[in-house]
Order: sequence, then structure tokens, then C-alpha cells
Amino acid sequence: MAKPTQPSEIARDVLKQLALSRTPPTPDNYMALYHEISGTAKVESFPEKSLKNIVADMPRNTAEQTRMARQLEAAIAEKNWDALKGVLLGFSVASAAEPPQWPTLIRDLTVQLERVQAGLTQTKKREMIEHVLNASSSPDLLYSRLHSLVHSWSQGATTDLNLSSEEANLTGSEQAAGKPANSAVAAKTGKLTLAEPPRVNVELRELIAQLLENAIGALLVDTPDLAEEARLLAEEARQRLAPEDIASFTTRMKKFSYRLNFFIEDQNELKTALLHLLQLIIENISELVLDDKLMHGQVEMVLNLFNQPLNLRQLDDVERRMKDIIYKQGNLKKHLNEAQDRLKTMLANFVDRLVDFSETTSGYHNKIERCALKISQAADIGQLSDVLAEVLQETRAIQTNAQRSRDELHEMRQRVEETEKEVDRLQNELAQASDMVRQDPLTGALNRKGMDEALEREVARIKRHESTMCLALLDIDNFKKLNDTYGHQVGDAALVHLANVTRETIRPQDTLARFGGEEFVILLPDTPLDEGVTAITRLQRELTRKFFLHKNEKMLITFSAGVAEIGKEEPAGQALKRADDAMYLAKRAGKNRVVSA
Ligand code: GH3
Ligand code: MG
Ligand code: MG
Repeated sequence: MAKPTQPSEIARDVLKQLALSRTPPTPDNYMALYHEISGTAKVESFPEKSLKNIVADMPRNTAEQTRMARQLEAAIAEKNWDALKGVLLGFSVASAAEPPQWPTLIRDLTVQLERVQAGLTQTKKREMIEHVLNASSSPDLLYSRLHSLVHSWSQGATTDLNLSSEEANLTGSEQAAGKPANSAVAAKTGKLTLAEPPRVNVELRELIAQLLENAIGALLVDTPDLAEEARLLAEEARQRLAPEDIASFTTRMKKFSYRLNFFIEDQNELKTALLHLLQLIIENISELVLDDKLMHGQVEMVLNLFNQPLNLRQLDDVERRMKDIIYKQGNLKKHLNEAQDRLKTMLANFVDRLVDFSETTSGYHNKIERCALKISQAADIGQLSDVLAEVLQETRAIQTNAQRSRDELHEMRQRVEETEKEVDRLQNELAQASDMVRQDPLTGALNRKGMDEALEREVARIKRHESTMCLALLDIDNFKKLNDTYGHQVGDAALVHLANVTRETIRPQDTLARFGGEEFVILLPDTPLDEGVTAITRLQRELTRKFFLHKNEKMLITFSAGVAEIGKEEPAGQALKRADDAMYLAKRAGKNRVVSA
């Protein structure tokens, strides 16, 4: 049977087939079968009305919006899918692009306009601007053209500096025509595109580089790594940066300024700490009357400090040790004064006794002389025996007196000798005290010396057992404030409380030592770093549960801690230093936290 060609025949066949196959005669089914029978391709109908409705609702507030709506209307009228697609794609690309940065562009334009450039007079520049203004029909076009103009002028400076001999040899006609050398170069290298973002201008970049190199660099002589970073950034600032490099440069600059900020804060604290230290020394000098050797020790300590690059931690340390010495000196001086007072009293007694004695002996002489007179004048034996009895009595009395004085003098000499010995002992005590004691008397924790010994022991043990070990350095937060608010005794009690809670919390094999002031060290043998951090965090939590009580008032004591695992071949002192650095970071990060080194 021949294929129907007439639309009416096709329609009849379609209906027949639908009925035979019992397919519902919906428009879609009808259309599909119609194309099948006629052998034509199925064409989707153009939704003109719906699209027109959408475009009618579109905003037309800006030139760009109006232009787009018109383009869409035209495409719909032509029922042209391709044109429609083109308009929509164009819009999507345009809206994803960066919005025009007019303020930056105008600022750059003014700078570039006033810049003196070889081969490009200001009049010529104005003419070029005028030309762009007249030739650009839309703000976007104007923006992109002005932008490339400014860019080509700004590139002039770089090319002025870096032009290769080939690039520098522009033809005379190009120069005469006022064509900027740089735009010729840009055109040659093909680097200049309209989509390029605004560039930081050359002078500004040079200024940033100089600031980094000269001003900031000079500040950083003591921190070679920061100084090096400043130098590298300066180098980079001078270079022409590709847009993707600008982002990474900005990030590095931000990081650098962040570190610089920390560094400057440190410097200020350093200054304050130094002044404080000087004040302490001067205060102490006025107190120092007893022993020059001690004075030498302190001066030496400070001199040693100045022999190396200044560091806040060392200053802290020296200050703490000086406070210890001053405290001990104060005690020593008190005892020495007491001993001296005792000596003085004894001497005074001795002199009194001497006076007594000579008075007694001179009285005896007088009496004996009187007796001798009586003897020579004695008329009989009876009178003589009376006088003799008197002489005997006087002699016995003087003997007893002399004996007593002798005994007293002897005893006094002994006491003087003892006191002298005590003075010697006290004077030696300062030097010896630290050698003899291994425990901190206040908290019962090991003192520094005890800690050093324990550390040495533990390090040897973990080496033997090929085990790991952590040490934690804790520093009470805002302890000075607690002292200042409630007094030194409450501060002392808080230290004892911390030590007690710590001892209750740590394992029996762990060791607590008072590192100095309000700093403690905990040795955690057979402990890897993560477990060390967990242990100290547990202590931190424990302190929030076991309050320190002062006059029934609950007081929360917090600490900042650094935890370090001692490396296999690492000296313990170095691990301690790392823990200290981590503790310092914990302080920096806002205190009351544990940081692993
Ligand atoms: P931060 O949170 O930064 O550690 O501040 P802080 O106040 O705790 O630290 P700072 O180093 O400024 O002050 C520590 C104070 O600890 C100063 C010192 O007088 C006090 N201190 C040191 N040893 C003792 C002590 O044995 N008893 C008492 N009561 N106070 C002490
Ligand atoms: Mg401290
Ligand atoms: Mg503290």
C-alpha cells in the first residue's frame, strides 16, 4: 500500500491506527504517530508565548538589562533557539565576571596621567582618553578600554626599566605618532588582554618593597627568618605579578604582617621586662651592705644575659632567680643583724664585768691597806687575830668574785665564738642552700635541682627500655593578679593547691617539680605525645572540679601548658625548651589550654 502523502489522508490513517492499537488519542500520541506515518521529523513547538511572558517581566533598570531584554525579544520573534542561547550564555558569563572597579581605575588613571614618561606627553595622554570616551558606547566598553589604556601606560614604567634591546628599538614613526612604547610591546607579546584585573602601580610596588627592605628589615636584625621573609616579599613586590600570583602574594603578606605583629608585641614586652629588671637591681643595690660576692653574682647574671640576643623567656628566668636571691639575702641579712646584735650585747656585758671587777679589786686593795695599818698598830694577839680574820674574809670574797668573773668571761668568750661561727655559717648558707635541697619547701614538689636529677634518671631509663617519655611545662594563668588581689599568702596557698591536685591526678610513676615561681614541670615516663596531652588536659579538667577555696570563696585556677615528647637522641633540656615554647604559644592563644610541641 502506498504511503499517504496528503495531510488529510495521513490524519485519517493516524486515527485508524490509534483506534486499532487502542492507544488513547492524546495530542502527544497523535503527533508521534503522525510523524511516523508521514515520515517527517518531530519538531518541538517554539513556546513563544511563555517566553514572551518571561521577558516582559524582566527588569530594565540599567542599559545592560534593557539591551539584554531587547536581544531576547528579537530572538523570540524569530523563534531562533540559537540566538536565544547566545543571549543567555553571554549574560551568564558577564554576570560571573568581576564588577568594574571604577574607583581603582580612576585612581590609577590619575596617577598614570600625571606620570612623566619618555615618548608620551600629557597632552597625548589626554587625547587618548578623549578618543576612548568618544568611541565607547557602553559603560562596560568604556571601563574595559580605559582599563587597558591605564594598564598599557603603567606597563611603560616596567618596560622602561626592563626593555630588551629589541623592544627598546621602536621605530621612529611609532614614537613620532605618540604611540606608547609599552603598548607596542604589549601588542607584540600579546600579554595585554581586556579581561586583565587592575594592576598595582609600579611606584606603589616599589614603595612596598622599600618599606619591607629598609624600614621593616632594619627592625628584624635579631630574627633572621622574618628578615629573610621581608626580603623575599620585597623582591616579589617589585616583580610584575600574574593575577594568580597576586592572591598568593597577598596571603604571604598577611601572614608576614601577622608574625610581625607578634614580634613587635614581644619587643614591647621585652622592653617592659627589662625596665622591671633594672628597677629590681637598683632596689637591691641599696639594700646590699653585707656581701659583695652576692652583688657580683647578680651583676654577672645580668651581664650574661646581655651577651646573647635578648629573649623574653631568659629575662623572665633571670628575674625569677634574682627574686629568689633577693629573698634569701633578705633572710640572711636579718639573721646576720641578729647575730651582730647579740655580739654587741655580749661585749657590753663584758665591759660592765670588767668595770665591776676592777672596782671590786680596788675596794679589796683599800681594805688590805687598812688591815695592814691595823696590824702594825695592833697591841695584842687578840687584835691581830681580828684583823687577820678580816683579811681572810676579804681575800676569800675577792677570790670568789675573781673566780666568778673568770667563769663569766670564759662563758662569754665561748658565746662570742659560737656567734662568730653562726655568722660564718649564715654567710655560707646562701651558696650551700641550693646545693643541699632537692625539694621545694612550699609545695613539696621537687625543686629545679631535684627535677634535673629525676629527668636524668628517667631519660636513662627510657633509653634502656626503648620507651617514650613526655614532659609538660605548666604556668599558672594570671597569677600575678591573684597575688595582687588577695595577697602573697593566698598565692602561696594556690600553688600548694595546684601541686596537691596534680599529685592526686597524675600516676605514681609521674614526677611533679616546681620549675620556679608559678611554673611546674611534670615528667610522664612511658607516655607518647598524644597521651601526654590527654593527661595534662585531664589535670586541667580536674582543676575546674576541685576548686581552690579562699575564705569559702571558690576560685578557679587555670594554667597554660606545653607538652613535648623527648626525642630519641634529644637532650632533655632541648625538649624542655620545646615544651616551654609550646606553653608560650598556649599563652598567646588565650591561656587555659594545652599545646603539644
Ligand atoms: P601569665 O598568665 O602570662 O602567666 O601571667 P602571670 O601573672 O601568671 O605571670 P607573671 O610572670 O607576670 O607573674 C608571675 C607572678 O608569680 C609574679 C610573682 O610575684 C609570682 N610568684 C612567683 N613565685 C611565687 C611564690 O612562690 N608565691 C607567690 N605567692 N607568688 C609567686
Ligand atoms: Mg610564669
Ligand atoms: Mg603565669
